[in-house]
Amino acid sequence: MHPADLLKIRNLHRAGAQQRAATGAPPLKTMTATAFSHPRPDGGPASAQTNGSPVHPAPGTSHLVLDSPHSGTAYPDDFLFACDFAALRTAEDTHVDKLYDFAPALGAHWVEARFPRSYLDANRSISEIDVTLLDSAWPDEVAKDPALLSKVRLGKGLIWRTTDEGLPIYDRQLTVEEVQARISRCWVPYHAAVREAIDAAHRRNGYSIHLNCHSMPAVASASATDFPGEAHADFVVGDRDATTASAALSQRVCQHLTGLGYSVAYNHPYKGVELVRRYSSPGQHRHSIQLEINRKLYMDEKTLELKDSHLALKASLQSLVEKLLGTDTRTL
Ligand SMILES: [Zn+2]
Repeated sequence: MHPADLLKIRNLHRAGAQQRAATGAPPLKTMTATAFSHPRPDGGPASAQTNGSPVHPAPGTSHLVLDSPHSGTAYPDDFLFACDFAALRTAEDTHVDKLYDFAPALGAHWVEARFPRSYLDANRSISEIDVTLLDSAWPDEVAKDPALLSKVRLGKGLIWRTTDEGLPIYDRQLTVEEVQARISRCWVPYHAAVREAIDAAHRRNGYSIHLNCHSMPAVASASATDFPGEAHADFVVGDRDATTASAALSQRVCQHLTGLGYSVAYNHPYKGVELVRRYSSPGQHRHSIQLEINRKLYMDEKTLELKDSHLALKASLQSLVEKLLGTDTRTL
């Protein structure tokens, strides 16, 4: 996208926020069925992107489920962020939906978030609440697990406090009600769609493979992981140390990508998070793997524009998906 387009979109959001502030309209009034029908930041038509729904599921027929929780670009009216919009957009796994757009035609189930990750991170537990963001006490459970708390401290809980570069996203405290509304409007239907897709795949075929699709910067940002400044491999395959998928299946994914000439890391620096943890059970032939793709392979990380090289990457992803479609995990 051209930087001028980014500026235009940012100004649109600011103008909307100022208008609402001037009229005294509370943020929750804007949480309506049309809250997700913004023009796409990349200029595409809103209706094609969102259909007014924050989650897009496309049921398949095979044992394979793919989901993309971070590629959404429909910024809701009531986000009311205060940071630079271009900086905010670096939180997206921009274009990951496009990289896998061949998959539904091959029989894979597909689930995609249309809301942006910086509005609500669907790959977090709803207990990963950053209480420092709120203007009053959170009435429900708050995570106490040290591993989860380290992400919250980085500003990367369910609702992000800071961008990957550590910039504050808001200049205000959020209300408990608006966070609860984000959960019910985004997290609940997204997780329901992933769970239903995996259940349907498993019911029909007796086993399921879930590929949780992400992208990562070429170099880890200051506040993005516990390893700032680390140069990433082309792919990172994560199965939370072989607890969300059989090691044999994960090795098959690693070997396939290595065989195509890519560098591949396993469980470092990304092991997989909530979506692979929550719905997997390898002993019952429900396998979930997180796959991170290095953005340098397909996009300009500054302008967010797709590079021509995305076509070669897409062909590689299609060969991986075909490999998984031909894999019966019960015989591995
Ligand atoms: Zn992601």
